[in-house]
Amino acid sequence: MKIINLILRGCLAVRYYAGIGTLYLCGEKNCVVCGGITDLLPVCAGCFQKTIANIRLNAKRCLVCGRVLVSEKSVCVLCRSRPSIGNLNTVFPLYNYYLWARDLLFMWKMQNNRYFSFVFARQILVVLQNRFDGIPVVPVPPRPSKIKNSGWDQIKDISDILKYRYKMNVLDLLRRCDNSEQKKLGRTERLGRAEKRYVWNQAFKGHIPRSVVLLDDIMTTGATLNECAVALKAAGVETVHAVTLFSVSD
Ligand SMILES: [Zn+2]
Ligand SMILES: [Zn+2]
Repeated sequence: MKIINLILRGCLAVRYYAGIGTLYLCGEKNCVVCGGITDLLPVCAGCFQKTIANIRLNAKRCLVCGRVLVSEKSVCVLCRSRPSIGNLNTVFPLYNYYLWARDLLFMWKMQNNRYFSFVFARQILVVLQNRFDGIPVVPVPPRPSKIKNSGWDQIKDISDILKYRYKMNVLDLLRRCDNSEQKKLGRTERLGRAEKRYVWNQAFKGHIPRSVVLLDDIMTTGATLNECAVALKAAGVETVHAVTLFSVSD
């Protein structure tokens, strides 16, 4: 009996010190939303429900960019003046980009808290299943500088989780032209494709789905997503939707 007691107490002690150790190593003791105490995630359980878990599937959204609207208007202020993103059929951002979103994105991308990829992938899955069921997912290829700086690509992380953990249909239909490829081209060719940063991946020749959902982390002007949509439609895809984690408003 005594031995069992000792073992149990030992286990508790190990768990306690492991907890303290993790807090110490991660250095994240305060919730980024409310400032209260949190354990492993940088968001406390209460705030998690109000922010990350709160995708607002049925909220009123901007007819152009899909942002959740606060006013009675049907198109957001930004979309009244932004260049056209008309090649995208629907855009669904999970969250408006402010306050807590900035902090979380920074922790995830800049401070390499990669476990957040799982959290975000789970939320994206909910949107895919509710809004774009059965439609293949196409990740936006990363800028080469992005991987060079951090060593990993956030969208690749999420796509891999969607593909291998949730068995979603993820297709790398797009490729990004790097600068060296552009340099090899003649001057006239280069001028002709000056704007073309994304091209169809020839590995998928002849396998053209009718609809796809583009996946990116953040939508600022929408130019990147629109460009990707142009490349996809040029190859024969009829409908291009987009899901992004965040949508920037200013
Ligand atoms: Zn909190
Ligand atoms: Zn809008």
